[in-house]
Amino acid sequence: MQMYLRSRAVCVRLETPNHTTSSLDANMQTIEKTHPKFLELKTRLTEINNISSAASLLYWDQATHMPPSGAAARGRQLATLRQIAHEKLTDGAIASLLDSLRAYEADLAYDSNEASLIRLTRRLHEQAAKVPAAFTATISQHRAASYEAWAKARPANDFALVQPYLEKTLELSREWANFFPGYDHVADPLIDASDYGMKAADIRAIFADLRQQLVPIVEAITAQAPVDDACLHQTYPEADQIAFSLKLLAQLGYDFQRGRQDKTLHPFMTRFSINDVRITTRVYENDLSQGLFSTIHEMGHAFYELGNDLAFEGTPLAGGISAGVHESQSRLWENLVGRSRPFWQFFYPQLQAAFPQQLGNVSLETFYRAINKVQRSLIRTDADEVTYNLHVMIRFDLELDLLEDKLAVRDLPAAWNERYRRDLGVVPESDRNGVLQDVHWYSGIIGGAFQGYTLGNLMSAQFFAAALQANPEIPAQLEEGNVHRLHNWLQENIYRHGRKYTAAELIERVTQAPLSTTPLVDYIKQKYGQIYQL
Ligand code: ZN
Repeated sequence: MQMYLRSRAVCVRLETPNHTTSSLDANMQTIEKTHPKFLELKTRLTEINNISSAASLLYWDQATHMPPSGAAARGRQLATLRQIAHEKLTDGAIASLLDSLRAYEADLAYDSNEASLIRLTRRLHEQAAKVPAAFTATISQHRAASYEAWAKARPANDFALVQPYLEKTLELSREWANFFPGYDHVADPLIDASDYGMKAADIRAIFADLRQQLVPIVEAITAQAPVDDACLHQTYPEADQIAFSLKLLAQLGYDFQRGRQDKTLHPFMTRFSINDVRITTRVYENDLSQGLFSTIHEMGHAFYELGNDLAFEGTPLAGGISAGVHESQSRLWENLVGRSRPFWQFFYPQLQAAFPQQLGNVSLETFYRAINKVQRSLIRTDADEVTYNLHVMIRFDLELDLLEDKLAVRDLPAAWNERYRRDLGVVPESDRNGVLQDVHWYSGIIGGAFQGYTLGNLMSAQFFAAALQANPEIPAQLEEGNVHRLHNWLQENIYRHGRKYTAAELIERVTQAPLSTTPLVDYIKQKYGQIYQL
């Protein structure tokens, strides 16, 4: 259910995929030898997946091509499909199948496909079953109303318009958490739903550690004269930007036989099957970096799901483990690859050729510094790698304050502005560029929505360091526009496993260490130390 609650957020992954006949057939050969109850479970899961994938397709259409007047009917259609999927997942028949498979499961290897599917299904079923259907319907209706209010309030810069909705959201979020009694912190169930296994106390500790390492770096950089990024803010015609992004995607290995790119308002990736994983982008004619980096970001999300083991088709094992792990894959491509010098040593001449008037006389060095400009800013989604996580921490802390009843919704704009002043040294001139900027709180739930972004940044650096250690030639290959070695490493170590492991298990397996702030901080020190001569 949590996935549905979040489906309006940027970069979301929606539902589970369809199957294709060929991969299902291939898969049947392995599972025919297995327990009949397992086969029955798998059949039911595939049915749920087919319904959810149809809902995903309706959502994709809504966000890309649907005429505006289709919205009301589309809302009803989505609600119906999601309700059916929810009912099928929480069905008592699933519970008894899972029960009767306990002995079978105990005999299987932990990381076998079968044991992993049973384990994951049990978790998803138990989580969904704890929330009454009537509550799910209430929250779904409220979410639609709240989103609509936000869509009006943001351009009108009118927080008062969304305040009553947000108060209701907070109430519903606490109520949702209370379906999972026994937590240490009311945010724990909400965090757990996006980043399974994490608690508020864990995140607080990680964030405190990261923060005290980042702040001195931000201070040292912003004490210097700002980097000139005017080269990115000339006029870049939309059609030329789209043409370049499609060419770039093809060169980086995004397979247009298994995906496509369309325009949208808030870029996201979605999957209808492991063989149909689509991305969306947005383009600003006066800001080249928006289209460029949202394309690479969503491509990273798509690579992850396109790389899932085809045996997972039609089951919940397809997809990404958690908000954090998924984001680690998009940020790895966007930042560690897409904002790196070796990458642009190869691709910048192509970009110059696509925009000769705008970039013909701009050096690679000027461009590289512009796309890595560090500044104290107001908007999270536009923030640079060094300050980005400070934006996330502000939201995370405010979420906890709201849930703990330390902060009233009516006082949220002032609290937001005060935190920006204190943490980033800037104060929003309007709520539009302040508390109203992110859709997350206005589309259904408060709690658990933001920590995944920073967890993803931390993991992206930790995974990339492991990839470099195994393949020190990766940067030299990037200079030649060759991403195969890196892609293969990610495929082998991360993509193919889908949702088989928990985030903590995957990190240990891949990097032989628990999640740590060190790789990200080391990367930032090394890269920005060089750019800013720190
Ligand atoms: Zn993302």
